[in-house]
Amino acid sequence: MKIAFIGLGNMGAPMALNLLKNGHTLNVFDLSAQAVNTLVDAGALAAPSPKAAASDVECVITMLPAAAHVRSVLSDTDGVLAGIADGVPIVDSSTIDPASAQAFAELARANGNAFADAPVSGGTAGATAGTLTFMVGASVPLYESLRPILAAMGKNIVHCGPTGMGQVAKICNNLLLGITMTGVAEAMSLGVALGIDPKTLAGIINTSTGRCWSADTYNPYPGVVPGAPASRGYSGGFGTDLMLKDLGLATSAAHGVRQPVFLGALAQELYQAMSTSGHGRLDFSAIIKLYERELEPQHKGDQ
Ligand code: NAD
Repeated sequence: MKIAFIGLGNMGAPMALNLLKNGHTLNVFDLSAQAVNTLVDAGALAAPSPKAAASDVECVITMLPAAAHVRSVLSDTDGVLAGIADGVPIVDSSTIDPASAQAFAELARANGNAFADAPVSGGTAGATAGTLTFMVGASVPLYESLRPILAAMGKNIVHCGPTGMGQVAKICNNLLLGITMTGVAEAMSLGVALGIDPKTLAGIINTSTGRCWSADTYNPYPGVVPGAPASRGYSGGFGTDLMLKDLGLATSAAHGVRQPVFLGALAQELYQAMSTSGHGRLDFSAIIKLYERELEPQHKGDQ
């Protein structure tokens, strides 16, 4: 199938590469020439604008930082909607707020195109391995028609309901992830301050009732999980600023329906503090840095 892929960043590039590997033909567009070149080297065709990318394809996929970027890529004068043929579906895999996804579906519908929100989880490792989970908000027939395309990039393709419900699933998951990571960081830091070996503590948590992904797969304490960002200076992975964005999406969506999110609001403040102190580009598990203690000199000498 011929597909336009727009947004070739940490997630979009490996997702687009997997489409190529699965035999699809790609038109690609990104503001970064370097990102485009990587895909062109792998066999994609570079387009000069989103409009041009979308003009001769059977499906358009966007993977962009936030809703403002999606709006511009869709509706600018050289945007997707200006070039796409009637009936060609648009899939947005960015993490954005459900209301924006629904508004984009309306814009697309008025232009003669179906729109699905299909945010992902699985991170850059899942994007590279082609094992992402897609949370799809779409009509059932649209979901069914998109399944084979998404299956080239992911292993769990889940229909969450009508447009916007993919984003609802995604922001609720990331609300919980932001909270659990903070909880694990707090428990690990307390344990170490009280004298237990961090690997021993993680081993207990991971076979006890505190077990969760933030503890057993992505532990924020350095050296506990060899492949986790904490064991390589919190580089790569899922940025603190992206987690902050997602917590903002969750808390503002909650505000819109007058639903309390006590822990989410607190977690948002903690990630905001990390970002403000210049750590926004570090992986979000670096939240454990907030728990580092300034020890008194005589205390340090005790160790
Ligand atoms: P990124 O910043 O690495 O990539 C975004 C890409 O979009 C960049 O290459 C940028 O040049 C491009 N871009 C920005 N504006 C553009 C425009 N107007 N036209 C064309 N290209 C434009 O971000 P990412 O990590 O790939 O994340 C993308 C989305 O996926 C975000 O919404 C993020 O929250 C979500 N997400 C990220 C992860 C992760 O682990 N990184 C996991 C799940 C979901």
